[in-house]
Amino acid sequence: MILDGKVVIVTGGARGLGQAIAVAVAEAGARVAVLDVIDTAETLALLKDLGPGQHLGVHGDVTDFEGLRAAVQQVADACGAVHGLINNAGLYKGVHDMPFEEITEEQWDRMMAINVKGVWNVTRAVTPLMREQGYGKIVNVSSTTVLVGAAGMSHYVASKGAVFALTRSLSRELGPAGVRVNTVMPGLTMSQASMDNLGPALGAVEQMVNATTALGRPQQPADLPGTMIYLLSELSDAVTGQAIVVDGGQSHW
Ligand code: NAD
Repeated sequence: MILDGKVVIVTGGARGLGQAIAVAVAEAGARVAVLDVIDTAETLALLKDLGPGQHLGVHGDVTDFEGLRAAVQQVADACGAVHGLINNAGLYKGVHDMPFEEITEEQWDRMMAINVKGVWNVTRAVTPLMREQGYGKIVNVSSTTVLVGAAGMSHYVASKGAVFALTRSLSRELGPAGVRVNTVMPGLTMSQASMDNLGPALGAVEQMVNATTALGRPQQPADLPGTMIYLLSELSDAVTGQAIVVDGGQSHW
């Protein structure tokens, strides 16, 4: 299997896209550490069938650097190494219909604290180990909203733009240490959070997606992990600082 022998941390893996990513990464042979601020039991139950005792859940808040250092140490103690990190945790659920003048400073700062500073925090908690190993793969989850703009969520779009910019910058700093850093930009994907955000508009949005994507169908969580597994694997060792759009062929970059 392509990720055989690898240890991968998936942040925000307790539900939604992170859960689908954790399962697919485990199916590809990796030992997965699911890091989340909420209970990871549901994902661990799914992972259990893919190799009892192999995977673990670790509590971590991406805004708390010291807590993350302890969480990463817990993974390293249990697994002996950390080869891959998927920075998927993000503030997305409940983010819709927020005109930019009505976003409060508190909402703006919380968005940046989780979506931007969170990526920086988890990355700097993991990179000492990766530097020591001389090898590592980091995949940051951005969004195609950065490419097309999206009304009613300007703080979210700005945060995901920063995730891409940070990726490019980190790839330069970490490349000499053998650590590759890339971004995946998913288009609208039918996680529970997306469906909740869209509410009654879901049907109309699905029709719009069918009409504007090359594949002509809504994207599902299981559509995303393949690209991430490629980026975690040695097949992509010459790829760093890149953004790969996974959206069924809707946006162009
Ligand atoms: P979701 O809200 O279901 O998942 C987010 C996960 O992040 C949850 O498990 C949550 O507990 C975790 N999280 C939130 N704050 C955290 C914190 N402070 N510390 C640790 N974990 C925290 O949303 P989703 O649809 O599964 O999206 C997952 C990621 O993909 C997000 O970064 C989102 O912005 C991004 N994304 C989603 C879509 C989409 O259409 N669903 C499209 C593009 C990008």
